[in-house]
Amino acid sequence: MSGPPGSLPVRPPITGVSAGALRAALSGEPRYRIDQVNRAVYREAATSFEQILTLPAGLRARLAELFKYEALQAVRSETSADGTRKTLFQTVDGAPVETVQMPTERSGATTICLSSQAGCGMGCTFCATGAMGLTRNLSSSEIVDQFLHFRRRSSADRTPDRAVFMGMGEPLANVRAVEVAVRALVDPAAVGLSPRRVTVSTVGLPRGIHAMAGWNLPVSLAISLHAADDDLRTKLVPVARRFRLDSLMEASRRFQQQARRRVTYEYTLLDEVNDSTSQAADLARLLRGQRCHVNLIPFNAYPGARFHPTPRPGVRAFRDKLREHGLRATVRRTRGRDISGACGQLHAGALRADKQPGSRD
Ligand code: SAH
Ligand code: SF4
Repeated sequence: MSGPPGSLPVRPPITGVSAGALRAALSGEPRYRIDQVNRAVYREAATSFEQILTLPAGLRARLAELFKYEALQAVRSETSADGTRKTLFQTVDGAPVETVQMPTERSGATTICLSSQAGCGMGCTFCATGAMGLTRNLSSSEIVDQFLHFRRRSSADRTPDRAVFMGMGEPLANVRAVEVAVRALVDPAAVGLSPRRVTVSTVGLPRGIHAMAGWNLPVSLAISLHAADDDLRTKLVPVARRFRLDSLMEASRRFQQQARRRVTYEYTLLDEVNDSTSQAADLARLLRGQRCHVNLIPFNAYPGARFHPTPRPGVRAFRDKLREHGLRATVRRTRGRDISGACGQLHAGALRADKQPGSRD
């Protein structure tokens, strides 16, 4: 990528630079410099080349001329009463990206909820990101750098140990960049997370699920189901018109066999839409015989939402019906609702709120 004539060339982010290009940039240096750079970038708290004190000053300056240290610029952050933190970033071309850091259940560490796209083109009717539409796919560096942003700035007791693709966007609609990002997240020489602690959540694109089964990595797969019949599912998840439940279940079963992993089905409970106990029984029939887990998500409302959350007793009755049928089912604890940082609430509203100086409503 280069800018208009006469402008400075755009520097690629360091996490997007190939091993060969990094070696070329470090030519004439001892070989251990590569490890020093990688360790600082992926594991340490430095937020600029200038801060990598293991490198000589001249080399730090050379690297800073060639590469950007961070692909994304943080615009603003909000912290919820429960410790969840949401950060709004901007890409170099001004696309909004939101990322959430939340406490990991039953551990002192944190989970980073990553975005794979700016906005989302899938148009699910109960999702604030869906209402934004798609701005563009994110690059693998823009994905990995969301994680690194928080790793570099977190105290030891809040260090991120998990990544879930449950922020903005449909990861399997950007499957190439997501695969590269996942490989960096689990590479011991890069981010170094345990693959089991990386979860890709998809609206249910069968081809993407087949691709993921071929990655040969024990990462976790979550499929957003929300309905056990095609008619209702199409009303909630418009792409279900093209990707019917039979092909989705086939892709999921293949993933379970090939990756030898249990799949999680996500089911957002919408009042009087998909939450009756007879719909729970239909769901149990659909999933009979699968190695799976059902994660029920209480609906998170947002301004302009067309749906309402199922009241608590209804949530429990739905869960209990699934369990009666022998399914493993749990209710997701909602985090960060007060800062619009919960599932399906990301919509980059802060960018609109941050008016340019002198601008008017
Ligand atoms: N695009 C991917 C991942 C991002 S959404 C997907 O759809 O799976 C993460 C989860 O939040 C999905 O299960 C999604 O259906 C759910 N979700 C979206 N909007 C929601 C809302 N307003 N309340 C509760 N869950 C929601
Ligand atoms: Fe996109 Fe997922 Fe929201 Fe659907 S639920 S619009 S796929 S982010």
